Amino acid sequence: MYFVQTYGHRTSVPSLATFLRRSLTQGARMNATIMQAHDVAECRWLGYGIGKGVTDPNAGITVFSPGSGPETQGLHGELIQGFPFVDPTPLCYEDTHVFGFGTFLRWVYFADPQGGPGVLGVDFSLTERQTAGVATSMLAVARCAAALAGSGIPPDAELVLLNWRMCEPVRLTALRHTEQLITLRDWARAVPHFASGGTHCPRCGLHTLHAWVPFCNQCGCRPALVWKRNGIAPHINKEVPHGMEERLAGLRRITRPVPSTACAA
Ligand SMILES: [Zn+2]
Repeated sequence: MYFVQTYGHRTSVPSLATFLRRSLTQGARMNATIMQAHDVAECRWLGYGIGKGVTDPNAGITVFSPGSGPETQGLHGELIQGFPFVDPTPLCYEDTHVFGFGTFLRWVYFADPQGGPGVLGVDFSLTERQTAGVATSMLAVARCAAALAGSGIPPDAELVLLNWRMCEPVRLTALRHTEQLITLRDWARAVPHFASGGTHCPRCGLHTLHAWVPFCNQCGCRPALVWKRNGIAPHINKEVPHGMEERLAGLRRITRPVPSTACAA
């Protein structure tokens, strides 16, 4: 279910396609003059139009601000008002929020002035609260992409992982290319990649999972928690037998080198 919102008025639409480029004439653009120098040097969507959206992958609801009205200037928080279990603005942005953004995730569609497919930037941070409106796992990004696959956003639009300055850290760009997660189409197909039964951590995206280890040794997460938060049941073959972690800990104690106290003759 897709909506567009202008001046607080929300309208159901069959597709976002005809609204995606309005930001180029009626909204904000990515403006180098108010950006940090190193962001300017690396950002590939300078001058692109900025259209803001929110998606709840659980409910299948997306709201997009097409480029006019106060929503364009400000806040994703305006787009979630009226839905249950969310906070008013500005409380939804604060660390002390109650419901925050609920299960909505925030994103930006950067419209290409040259007519290309544009860039879809999903707000991403491994360290935010679950209800901050920010994707806190690769699996959450993939589920958001799957929810947007039929929205009218071009499948060839690059899907990037945004920090709070609406730029993508270089290391995340590199990771996406390593994992072949370039476009919206790639990400929409990636839910199984991060779901239970795979070998990639659903949180950090690295190739760290093995059947006999119940956690990611890079980001420290327990993948089962990430799967549960995203409504994905553990794969039967990936379930860790009860007590396995304790047995592994015991094995490490046994195999740890024991300092010799014997004196050489
Ligand atoms: Zn990880």
